[in-house]
Amino acid sequence: MADLMEKIVSLCKRRGFIFPGSDIYGGLANSWDYGPYGVELKNNIKRAWWKANVYLRNDMLGMDAAILMHPKTWEASGHVENFFDLKADCKGCHKRFKVADLKDRKKCPECGGELTEARQFNLMFKTHSGPVEDASTVVYLRPETAQGMFVNFPNILDSRHPKLPFGLAQIGKSFRNEITPGNFTFRTREFEQMEIEYFCRPEESEKVYEEWVAARKQWYLDLGMHPEHIRFRAHEKDELAHYARACTDVEYAFPWGWSELEGIANRTDFDLKQHAQHSGKDLRYFDEVKKERFYPYIIEPSGGVDRCLLAFLVDAYTEEPVKEEVRALLKLHKDLAPIKAAVLPLLKNRPELVETAKKLAWDLKKSFVTVYDDTAAIGKLYRRQDEVGTLYCITVDVQSLEDKQVTVRDRDSMQQERISIDKVKDYLTDKLNETAG
Ligand code: ATP
Repeated sequence: MADLMEKIVSLCKRRGFIFPGSDIYGGLANSWDYGPYGVELKNNIKRAWWKANVYLRNDMLGMDAAILMHPKTWEASGHVENFFDLKADCKGCHKRFKVADLKDRKKCPECGGELTEARQFNLMFKTHSGPVEDASTVVYLRPETAQGMFVNFPNILDSRHPKLPFGLAQIGKSFRNEITPGNFTFRTREFEQMEIEYFCRPEESEKVYEEWVAARKQWYLDLGMHPEHIRFRAHEKDELAHYARACTDVEYAFPWGWSELEGIANRTDFDLKQHAQHSGKDLRYFDEVKKERFYPYIIEPSGGVDRCLLAFLVDAYTEEPVKEEVRALLKLHKDLAPIKAAVLPLLKNRPELVETAKKLAWDLKKSFVTVYDDTAAIGKLYRRQDEVGTLYCITVDVQSLEDKQVTVRDRDSMQQERISIDKVKDYLTDKLNETAG
């Protein structure tokens, strides 16, 4: 199974999905850059999430808060006081370990040397705002996007007047100075989150929580994730954060084992109360019908874009025998595939043929992400497109010049259909709009 991860990491670099960060300088440990296909896949995941959680609902609003927030935010949220891991250093090789990962708390897992006593290590990146570096200018890079939505609760009420229940959705970068990053992009120090804060009446929170767990499950399945590779694990009472009433982890069967993609929590009224106390502002909601003022409860589905992307890549990676060879392909859902169509001329030394193919590619580009490629023989071009998950390959051949038809090849079935050049756009539009099931 480790083999599968190696194949995926290698495909990502070779084909332009994900590169090691700062590669020419030998890399910055555990940082990753998304390349041409990676950025498309990432944008498609974010778009699918936004569509399902904002556009296709009547009770959700979008937001984009700043990464740097008033330092009091992190006092109110509890991050200054509680957001730490216990770490221990090896006295021999000086490597640092997260105590929770250690089998033996006294012995270095790498060199066998003696470990120091466990010490607290805050995971927030600290920096200074402006030219003066003293205690009064300390700011933190946000470790989660959630707080930007809590502190804007009154602005949302005053500007949009939503009625309970309603939610806010946000996608953005977060930073955590993780002690033990690893497993490719699974745990990094800079990552992107997709978070929802859904406000409801306290007595409805359990029902709303269950609804969100179901909705989030449906989202992964709708995007083609294999149902047997995803599980929803409810936390035991002793696993819950002190303010949370319930929490379910969405876990994916990665090659190294089941690991968290997303957490869905009932955070009660903890956050709004904390910010009310620290800011001195009244953050209660006023119910005009019942004439009562109260703190709503919050249900929070909080997921990571990078982990989600990695899970979809692992899930989509397929190898299958074709004649004497093995074909590697990414069976990504049509909404996630970075490239929808590739137009490939069968012969590149026939100018009319190249011209027809380029014209068709240009025409298709206006409707969906399309590429043109004539840099190899057709077999190789197909393999290239399969490996990055391109949905349809359209071949223009000599016959096309006469009958004005092209061959459209489906990525998964490899079936080929002859279609009139002037019908290709409609044909693909229909296919791309088709909903599964
Ligand atoms: P973990 O237990 O894996 O550290 P967490 O429970 O601390 O994660 P949350 O605080 O619930 O994570 O953050 C919500 C989501 O943000 C996670 O489910 C994950 O998808 C993503 N995330 C959190 N930390 C990281 C990280 N270091 N790298 C990549 N994604 C992350």
